This record gives sequence, structure tokens and C-alpha cells, in this order.
Amino acid sequence: MINFGYTRVSTHKAAIDAVRKDSAAQWIAGGTNLVDLMKKGVTTPEKLIDINNLPLKDIRKEGNKLYIGALALNSEVAENELVRTQQPLLSQALQAGASQQIRNMATVGGNMMQRTRCPYFYNTDMPCNKREPGTGCGALKGFNRMHAIFGTSENCIAVHPSDMCIALIALDATVLVTGPKGDCRIPFQNFHRLPGDAPHKDNTLERGELITAIEIPDNPYQKHVHYLKVRDRSSYAFALVSVAAAVDLQGDKINDVRLGMGGVAHKPWRLTEAENFLKGKTATEATFRQAAELVMKNAKGYGHNNFKLKLAPNTLVEALKTATVKA
Ligand code: SF4
Repeated sequence: MINFGYTRVSTHKAAIDAVRKDSAAQWIAGGTNLVDLMKKGVTTPEKLIDINNLPLKDIRKEGNKLYIGALALNSEVAENELVRTQQPLLSQALQAGASQQIRNMATVGGNMMQRTRCPYFYNTDMPCNKREPGTGCGALKGFNRMHAIFGTSENCIAVHPSDMCIALIALDATVLVTGPKGDCRIPFQNFHRLPGDAPHKDNTLERGELITAIEIPDNPYQKHVHYLKVRDRSSYAFALVSVAAAVDLQGDKINDVRLGMGGVAHKPWRLTEAENFLKGKTATEATFRQAAELVMKNAKGYGHNNFKLKLAPNTLVEALKTATVKA
């Protein structure tokens, strides 16, 4: 690990100025991913700007939206009464992520900004276009069991590792950002990127742009929701495949549905085609299976991860079955 400076700031302006004026500076909040990246030499900031004192920890109702500050801890959000009663899918997804100790440190903004866990990205002896653009992709013809089946490019097949973000994309969240050019709002769908020819860019933020909060609009998804995470062990493991399912059910009829999938793409993967197919249909396993077939149309395996071509549709069907069980 290299030597680095450390400064604590308490205003948005000071935080933004600090990274704008110094290209070697980087913000730190919970540090649950950044410190690992620094220890392995993947990221080498010369100065850390601690933003934990910024007033961004609130969780509150604002009109017909739930506002969650970017520095709210993952554990606080998961256990918050408003979140548990109004956005239970988000609470479930957060509880499925990492370990209790990490959830006690990790922030909402940091969760969104975490980097892929592709082992080639963390091994500085290996080629990796995300860590060092132009060096190649070690995973493409290497050990790619954890890697993507949707939205890949010849430059990168890594997956986004968050559970929280899979629920947020299903729930139509908006990301609130402030930066050198002022404030802006980014639909969650547009926040993370596919790799294309620039896999080193995980998201659409520009340097100096700071996530201040997320907002989730009110919805009818309180009763029939389920976050299903399939992983190698029952705790403290990243998803092989996960599904966030939220269903507005009337009797057996699906009024509306929101679906996100994790562990399958460089960004949280929204299953819009399956949602459109399911609207107005009867909630049966056969219908869910048809929706899953639609989802898998453009999937592609890379060898070791071919098992995801079966696991993904099966996980979607199981998540929908559990979500639509009548109370
Ligand atoms: Fe790097 Fe992406 Fe290839 Fe992994 S999949 S080695 S992160 S370029």
C-alpha cells in the first residue's frame, strides 16, 4: 500500500473542490471496497478525502418519495421502519449483501460505487481493461465462472456486485447528484454503464460529481416482493445470480411487476421485456417460465459461467413464485 494523505471535509463544496483541484485525491466514506483496492494496489490515491461528516445520512419521506441520504449505512437502511414497510424489497436486498459488520460500515453511495469483484481486476499481474485500459481481458478466455451473460463486450465481461442496486433498479429509483456544474438527477437505469469499449468507467458520473441521495417513488410493492440470491455459501458471498421481484397482485392477476437481475451483467439488469409480458397475466409457474425464456434470448455464456444460462431463468421463476405466494 502506498503512503497517502488524509483530510476530513464537512461541506459539499469542500468535498467537490478537493477532488477537482487534485487529480490524485479520492473520496472515502465506509471504505469497505476502497481500502481493499488500495491494499492490493489496484487503486492508488495519494490523498483520501473523508466525506463522512457531510449531512447526508437522512432517511425520510418527501412527498410521494422515500429519500435516502448517500451516507446512510446499509444496515440502517435495511432496518429502517419506513424502508421495511414501504420498500421491503430494498430491505431484503440489503440484508442479503455482504456481512453484518460490512453493512454496518458501508454507505448507500459507496454500495453504488463499488467495483467489480472480477479476480483479474484485483490481480495487478494480470491483464485487465478495467484496471488498466488497453491491456486486455484476462477473464474472457480465463476462469470466468462469476462473469456476465448479458451486455458484455470483447473488452470486459465483469459483473456489477451489488445486491442493493438490483432492488433499486427494479424500484425505479433516482440518483441525486451534485457537482461542479450544479445539481442533477439520474434515473437509476442510466447510472451504471455497460462495458463497451470503455470498461474502466463503471458509471456515468464525471469527476467531482458527488452522490447525495437516492429517491424511490411510492409504489404498490409492499406485499408481494422477494429478493432471491443464489450464491456459493449462505452468507458473505457475491451472487451467482440474484433476482429482485416486486409484484402488484390482485387475486391471481398480475396488475404490474418490476424485475431486476444481479450477477449477470456489468450493470444492474432490468428485465423490462419480462415485465411487459407478465402484466395482465395470471400468476402461474408456466407464465413465469415463458417470461424467463424471453429474458434469456440474448444471453451468452463464456465457458465456466455457462451454468448461469440455466440458473438465471430458474432463479427468476423461483423468485416470482415466492413473491406471488398469497399471505
Ligand atoms: Fe478486467 Fe473486466 Fe476482463 Fe475482469 S472481465 S479481467 S474486470 S476487463
